[in-house]
Amino acid sequence: SARPADVDPAIWEKIKDHPCYSEEAHHYFARMHVAVAPACNIQCNYCNRKYDCSNESRPGVVSERLTPEEAVRKVVAVAAAVPELSVLGIAGPGDALANWKKTRATFEAVRAVIPDIKLCLSTNGLVLPDHADEIAGMAIDHVTITINAVDPAIGARIYPWIFFDHKRRTGLEAATILLERQMRGLEMLTARGVLVKINSVMIPGINDDHLPEVNRAVRARGAFLHNVMPLISDPAHGTHFGLTGQRGPTPAELKALQDRLDGGAKLMRHCRQCRADAIGLLGEDRGQEFTLDRLPAAVT
Ligand code: SF4
Ligand code: SF4
Repeated sequence: SARPADVDPAIWEKIKDHPCYSEEAHHYFARMHVAVAPACNIQCNYCNRKYDCSNESRPGVVSERLTPEEAVRKVVAVAAAVPELSVLGIAGPGDALANWKKTRATFEAVRAVIPDIKLCLSTNGLVLPDHADEIAGMAIDHVTITINAVDPAIGARIYPWIFFDHKRRTGLEAATILLERQMRGLEMLTARGVLVKINSVMIPGINDDHLPEVNRAVRARGAFLHNVMPLISDPAHGTHFGLTGQRGPTPAELKALQDRLDGGAKLMRHCRQCRADAIGLLGEDRGQEFTLDRLPAAVT
């Protein structure tokens, strides 16, 4: 398929068969997510822990929580039934790296059975510097970091607290630590040759005018793609930005912002904000066909 003009040819070689990055590939290759990562180490104002992480998945949706052993059974069953399966992602329902033992165990066990599967994960980035060497060493293909601000004063309006170094931290201190860790994690991964995509959630009146600055900061540190997702505002999944709640952007506002951003932003316009246990070609979700109670008893 054709390489978009703003994508580097060397990067395009690596992503052209990936259903999430190539408009063309998403018709031929399938991806699945397994929800093995329940915990999170920060609080986003737009998150309600009952539902999936908004980093990379549709907010307000509950996915089937799996142990690593259950996840491996599921991946093997899906690979047998969906020959297009090429990518396995861990994107929640919490933070993939806040649950690193489970994430790593799942990836290692799946790779042992399906050696050529591509692996990806998404994270808020708080503990990314601690795991960058292992991520690169395991040949994880892509990492997505959700970065909503590069100014701690704006970050503090989005993140009420983080849990870091055995302590809960709030306000500007929390936002400053998170930002510093996200930037360092991004630099460490790109220096080690891991492809890094940045997701930002567009929150009108909070970070919408600031996202071009985020775009420049992450491109300068080697992110190959910056994907802006709309805040999906629903009082039921908790938007705590103000007494009256927080609206999401209109489609026209989202498109106007995406047009202002450089560098592969257009590649991701077909991102569907899939749920954390999505299965199949993009635009379809066969997750309900592969719930645990429907899997064969053993696959080892
Ligand atoms: Fe929720 Fe994800 Fe934010 Fe954690 S990183 S608080 S799971 S949206
Ligand atoms: Fe791909 Fe977006 Fe779905 Fe992730 S959420 S699998 S990037 S389309």
